[in-house]
Amino acid sequence: MNRQKSFANDHLETGKLYIVGTPIGNLNEMSPRAVQTLKEVDLIAAEDTRHTRKLLSYFNFSTPLTSFHEHNQESKKREIVEQLLAGKSVAVVSDAGMPAISDPGEVLVDAALQAGISVIPVSGPNAALNALVASGIAAQPFTFIGFLPRQKKERKKELEKWAKIPTTLIFYEAPHRVKQMLQDSFAILGNRQIAIARELTKKHEEWLRGTIEEVLTYVQQTEALGEYCVVIEGASEDTKEEQTNWWDELTIIQHVEHYITDGMDKKAAIRQVADDREIPKREVYQIYHEH
Ligand code: SAM
Repeated sequence: MNRQKSFANDHLETGKLYIVGTPIGNLNEMSPRAVQTLKEVDLIAAEDTRHTRKLLSYFNFSTPLTSFHEHNQESKKREIVEQLLAGKSVAVVSDAGMPAISDPGEVLVDAALQAGISVIPVSGPNAALNALVASGIAAQPFTFIGFLPRQKKERKKELEKWAKIPTTLIFYEAPHRVKQMLQDSFAILGNRQIAIARELTKKHEEWLRGTIEEVLTYVQQTEALGEYCVVIEGASEDTKEEQTNWWDELTIIQHVEHYITDGMDKKAAIRQVADDREIPKREVYQIYHEH
């Protein structure tokens, strides 16, 4: 067990590690406490030092920066822990939002705690919670999933893992993968309520709320730009008991035609049906072309 009194009189010889949230778009969401912390620490470990330098210069101060990102975090964490043990205080920031939430930070927290360093959060914006609270979907209980795997097979497997979970699900997604993510969600989770938040806190903030099918139809006809958060209703009691697929009642031909009506070309529709049903494309192709 480890007991930490974050703000007790400083008798510690070691420094403290601050996990500092920064804006996800709107700079007015930078809290005075976050500014003060970043001003006062000896060192800021930043996901992208150029990006953070711009933030510091907007608030008119400079603090030494060191890079700390996905690709150097293992080696960098040791260096940073040494500085903390030598009495320096360090803040970790990511490009946007809360560090450690689909961002670097977690391994540093772990390394610092193992070295007996106090770890202190400094609240800040977070895309997932913003999306959740205005989604119109149950705010609790919820499960934050973050990014799904990029590979189709793994992505589907991951979605299947959450298909029977009765909590609201929150995902992050890159704009060029949103359409595919919605198609897979529709196929695996069924036609649930969904809310998509785009460009939160920014000038072009936009929400799409409705069923997955409605939102998918809209997304298929528009260009996906900006940053996206996806909130999906949890599994209902029925889903928990027996997983059904929306296409169970359709023949393979009707299933292909459903996607064609939605705007897909024949080839993509056949591929999607084969994926949904986990059968070879060749089989769908033959059945569809024989009719
Ligand atoms: N640590 C961040 C946080 O606390 O929200 C998340 C970082 S993660 C690398 C970036 C992803 O978060 C984006 O691809 C998007 O899914 C989501 N995101 C970040 N900013 C957003 C915004 N302004 N609007 C919608 N989604 C956003």
